[in-house]
Amino acid sequence: DQTVAVLAVQGAFAEHEARLSELGARCIELRQAADLKQDFDRLVLPGGESTVQGKLLDELGVLEELCARIAEGMPVLGTCAGLILLAHDLAAHDDKGTPRLATMDVLVERNAYGRQLGSFRTKGQVAGIDGEVPLTFIRAPRIVEVHGDAKALAKVDGRIVAARQGNQLGVTFHPELDEDTRLHELFLQM
Ligand code: GLN
Repeated sequence: DQTVAVLAVQGAFAEHEARLSELGARCIELRQAADLKQDFDRLVLPGGESTVQGKLLDELGVLEELCARIAEGMPVLGTCAGLILLAHDLAAHDDKGTPRLATMDVLVERNAYGRQLGSFRTKGQVAGIDGEVPLTFIRAPRIVEVHGDAKALAKVDGRIVAARQGNQLGVTFHPELDEDTRLHELFLQM
């Protein structure tokens, strides 16, 4: 029995809830500090606008507790902006000191595909999943470097698009926008 807290302050959270529900997981929405009192054993950080999300997490006063729970081993999936919130380091030109969780040993660059190529679809291999997975990119970041225990799980054109560090899974694409649920299955098995 799995209960996933989906950060629901901004961005593509409803689509994550749909995918997770299809897989039989229960979802709760994390909108305010009081929601942390509900029972949940996993966390999803959706795509959207990472600076807005980071500021809201800070204003709600939930950053510290979420960081602590991730450090204790709670599985977390960050997609796109969610990955940016997880990244310990941002590229120098992106790092404006906006609050983030910064729990994952990766260096991420925002909007890494430029304005024209910012959004595109392709397919690719993700370690741990058989066959190709649809990959939908929307003004996507890229993972420039993985450090320590963080390992790259997928690359597109030489750029890292998925990484895992123990209980933390971060992807630069939007698995919640495709019908393929295998990335969410991988997360629920963590
Ligand atoms: N470009 C956004 C950011 O930097 C991320 C885009 C997304 O989540 N689809 O926050």
